[in-house]
Amino acid sequence: MGRQMKIVNPYVETGTWLRGSFHNHTTNSDGWFPLETVYKMYGGYDFLGISDHDKITEHVSEREIPTVFEATEVSSPQTHMLLVKPPRSILENYSNEFTIENYQRFVDLTVENGGFAVLVHPNRYFSNFWNLEDMFKLENFLGVEVYNGDGNPEYDIAFDKWDALLSSGRKVWGFGNDDSHVYGQEKRAWNMVMAKENTNEAIVDAITKGNFYISTGYGFDGIQVDGNTIVVNLRSNELLDKMYKYVTFFGKDGQVLQETTGRIKQATYACKGDEGYVRIAVYLEGGYSAFSQPLFVE
Ligand SMILES: [Zn+2]
Ligand SMILES: [Zn+2]
Repeated sequence: MGRQMKIVNPYVETGTWLRGSFHNHTTNSDGWFPLETVYKMYGGYDFLGISDHDKITEHVSEREIPTVFEATEVSSPQTHMLLVKPPRSILENYSNEFTIENYQRFVDLTVENGGFAVLVHPNRYFSNFWNLEDMFKLENFLGVEVYNGDGNPEYDIAFDKWDALLSSGRKVWGFGNDDSHVYGQEKRAWNMVMAKENTNEAIVDAITKGNFYISTGYGFDGIQVDGNTIVVNLRSNELLDKMYKYVTFFGKDGQVLQETTGRIKQATYACKGDEGYVRIAVYLEGGYSAFSQPLFVE
């Protein structure tokens, strides 16, 4: 018998791919546009979260987006944390002071309420960022915003911190959000969620299980495991299949395990067993991308 290997694939359950962003602002905090305009800017999205700073904006305006999430961005001067579906009661005696104790309390109350917490723009060194040691001290949060659409490539991507958490054995998912404040920041980065149906509960359920990926325009049709091999089916159709793709398989500490390029619609990686985890990034020629969650190799 060969070496025993277990590959934990979050992309097992079937459903429909739904598109949405959880982290966006309105005039209720420092966004430029009122809620009803933000809804229009996100026309075509399946779900949308509004996360004004230290406030819960109620979804009162008319909208076509089928599913909306109440959210807030806990915004101390040091670090920011997104709470999706927090209980409104967190605003009683509210303080955004950054202590692990205070932030942990917000995380736990939100999880109890059927929501989740995401540590956002962890590398925004010019203002609000996360020290890795604080990220390790906090528990029970679901993920890290590894792609923030604000638009500064030096500060708005954080694959390094995600890899550091994953490499130490923390099971946290990667999120992509616009963090939109002004016109032109909408629809840059989002999450594609494989949900049973388009409801708050089904989306949170899929997100909690890691059955989603980050997109800036390209995507995955599905990711399967066949024996010890990870099979990545890239989004495919007659037009896309003619285009050049760059697929990278990353493992522990962000190490590049394999690169596969070509006018392909599938890429495979045979696991050796010592990867810790494998996550996949794909770029379509032109730069549109998608980033998978990790598949843990145990
Ligand atoms: Zn922020
Ligand atoms: Zn924000």
